[in-house]
Amino acid sequence: MKILVINAGSSSLKYQFMESEGGEVFAKGLCERIGIDGRLTHKVPGREDVKMDIPMPTHNEAIQSVLDIMVDPEKGVISSTDEIAAVGHRVLHGGAAFTESCVIDDKCIEAIKKCIPLGPLHNPANLMGIEACQKIMPNTPQVAVFDTAFHMTMPPKAYIYAIPYEYYEKDDVRRYGFHGTSHRYVSARAIDLLGNPAHSRVITCHLGNGSSLAAVQDGKCMDTSMGLGPLAGFPMGTRSGDVDATILEYLMGRYGYDIKEMLTILNKKSGVLGISGVSSDFRDLDEAAAAGNERAELALEKFSYEVRKYIGAYATIMGGMDAVVFTAGLGENSKEMRERICTGLEYMGIKLDKEKNNTRGKEALISTDDSKVKVFVIPTNEELVIAMDTAALCKK
Ligand code: AMP
Repeated sequence: MKILVINAGSSSLKYQFMESEGGEVFAKGLCERIGIDGRLTHKVPGREDVKMDIPMPTHNEAIQSVLDIMVDPEKGVISSTDEIAAVGHRVLHGGAAFTESCVIDDKCIEAIKKCIPLGPLHNPANLMGIEACQKIMPNTPQVAVFDTAFHMTMPPKAYIYAIPYEYYEKDDVRRYGFHGTSHRYVSARAIDLLGNPAHSRVITCHLGNGSSLAAVQDGKCMDTSMGLGPLAGFPMGTRSGDVDATILEYLMGRYGYDIKEMLTILNKKSGVLGISGVSSDFRDLDEAAAAGNERAELALEKFSYEVRKYIGAYATIMGGMDAVVFTAGLGENSKEMRERICTGLEYMGIKLDKEKNNTRGKEALISTDDSKVKVFVIPTNEELVIAMDTAALCKK
């Protein structure tokens, strides 16, 4: 089925038009500066990229411009929007209500709206994308695929926070986890590569600008590093990961920050950027560390140290591990970071093959033949998961 996959942000909208079986991408692109002026970048494999300034006061005009260029006789890839069988939307927060993807109807929209307090930055933007598509393509089925859904198999001991229980009962405060479509895709692929054993223990490391780990046992998520929101876990590009809450009170008292300012510091000025003062991009950090910048080196050390702690913890809760998977921008591309993380874990059965690890951006087994734990690089493909879920639900 030909599916249009939409990932709507507050002022941007990414799209990919693709085949749900096999994943062939016919066209993809990005609308930027929605609500400001509007710019469209449209890419078709084998053709030159198209960049156009198009007024986009709202997401409606953004979606309309995507449809217009898709049917354009020169720049397009289809003759009519009827060729779009369905639209799949990435939605950040599904709360505990959504354990899987769902066809968008009034009930689903209400439930996504209910999750706005849990995903205040993303869910309203995701809804704008959904509502624009409903308005412009009223007869095309729409499906929501949630970043949180894969993690809903976590047991209570993994998702409960040790604060008064009433906040869980009354206010839905619990661990939700994110990057679920990515963890789901790469863990399923790893289980395939392991030969589909009856039992499997896979640790998936989604390492990008935002990063998280998941412990996946027999294909089900048992624990994950992000929490109620995507700030939790280990340090990321600009996010702090878990911090002692006492730090908030201490810095807010010392500098007079309000909670918004404090969260901006933790979300945008922390992580490896905060430690290094150099960059949130690991390529810049590698370069700076190689040139002798000690704080860049410390940031890389801290990042790998915390990831290693999670690997140890997740191996423990699953009673061992059969595979570790690296994915996303950093995980797929940085042999240096993979080596930092795996070195010293031989006692746990992880033996990295330095030559095999010298790979970028493609699926590979990077552990030695005698490594008890298989280490894989598996490029993630969240759009394909969204397209496949959308097609499956529409066929139903
Ligand atoms: P993502 O959020 O998955 O798009 O990942 C983006 C991040 O991946 C960038 O911020 C970089 O830090 C990192 N990255 C991409 N390519 C490389 C590379 N070759 N070496 C190190 N880091 C990389």
